[in-house]
Amino acid sequence: MKSETKHLKNGKFCGMKTDTKTEPATRGKSNLTTRIMLGLACGIVAGMAISYTPENGLVHHWLMGFLELIGGLFINSIKMLVVPLVFVSLLCGVASLGDINKLGRIGAKTLGFYLLTTAIAISLALALALAAKPGSDLKLAELTRTVPNILQKQPFSKILQNIIPSNPVAAMAEGNMLQIIFFALLTGISITIAGQKARPVGDFFDSANIVIMQMVMLMMSLAPFGVFALIAQTFATTGFSAMLPLLKYMGTVIVALLLHICFIYLGALKILGGLNPIQFIRNFLPAMSVAFSTASSNGTLPVTIETVEKRCGVSSGVAAFTLPLGATINMDGTAIMQGVAVVFIAQIYGIDLSLSALLTVILTATMASIGTAGVPGVGLITLSMVLESVNLPIEGIALIIGVDRLLDMARTVVNITGDAVCTILVAKSEGEFDQNIFDAANEGEKQSSTNAA
Ligand code: ASP
Repeated sequence: MKSETKHLKNGKFCGMKTDTKTEPATRGKSNLTTRIMLGLACGIVAGMAISYTPENGLVHHWLMGFLELIGGLFINSIKMLVVPLVFVSLLCGVASLGDINKLGRIGAKTLGFYLLTTAIAISLALALALAAKPGSDLKLAELTRTVPNILQKQPFSKILQNIIPSNPVAAMAEGNMLQIIFFALLTGISITIAGQKARPVGDFFDSANIVIMQMVMLMMSLAPFGVFALIAQTFATTGFSAMLPLLKYMGTVIVALLLHICFIYLGALKILGGLNPIQFIRNFLPAMSVAFSTASSNGTLPVTIETVEKRCGVSSGVAAFTLPLGATINMDGTAIMQGVAVVFIAQIYGIDLSLSALLTVILTATMASIGTAGVPGVGLITLSMVLESVNLPIEGIALIIGVDRLLDMARTVVNITGDAVCTILVAKSEGEFDQNIFDAANEGEKQSSTNAA
């Protein structure tokens, strides 16, 4: 029991998880960002150039075939990782709760805040995207799937009923995400309740998680080529007309991210915590800038913890529990991107989303945010699970993948801000918050710059 308590003090059951993910996420990041941007830019230019070659000519045919091969390989490598990633990452996220009884109160508050704000985030994103119609100007009718949209016709009660898999192995083989999520949650909770005796199983999944994250890293290192091929294909078939909807898509995501920070996070700090939102932003800015440049909640975690403790006045006991958990399961920015992306892709393929489809998106995107690891680009992988849940074509990801890196940077800022706000509010309600530190953070900064001078 002792070693378990030690684990809990570190805020995680799957102890190695955060550290190991941090390392590869941090290493070579700026390089990858630059290469993806380069892939994107080259893809746009190449796509435009190909769109001017005669459509029936050999050159056009050969180039398009090549792009399709590279893009297809990349899309397949994303699809390949979805089931193991969601299952293992979600399981470890739940297991990181540690001793449920001991952490009950703080855990319930934290989970409640994380889930509620994520559901609000995705609803906000859906509403905004439905109003802004970012994909309505671009129609890919020829790519529209002929598969009937089963979920749109299925009542929501039926979807709920089917969440429990009668055969979890079949659920994984079929890629039934809701069932996989349910089984992962159940396994994670059971590992936590079983405690010390289940440590080997927890450790096994901990290692499995590291392996899968490594696969994600490898896959992401090929992303510049995938991005190039996919975006070139898009621009070769649609030419300039693809540009405007993409900008609209990005604008919608960014507006939704800003609204979520301003009204939900800063509003909650002001109303529930009675704290000055501007002061919070000033205090938390160092962590935000690291999140923006790394696009990784996990990579930023050490800075987030330091900032929340030293500049926001939260006790280390609370911060060490809620922040690693948040970096693993709380991804409001990611949920916002996924909400807008679902509507964007549905509009482009000319598919109407029914109310039950929208509710399914809220449910699966909330779950996907739990299953999204806090490293660059994973939100795009779990997006395929959200798309599948409403039977939208995963190929739609190809349209947005090129601009995703920029949005990833912005949404990661939102992801870690949500973790910090929750941590401060929980700490305040538990008497684990020091108002003097919160108010004096900038005084300290001024003083250190004076000392440095
Ligand atoms: N990069 C995000 C994070 O680390 C996850 C994602 O949306 O891809 O928080």
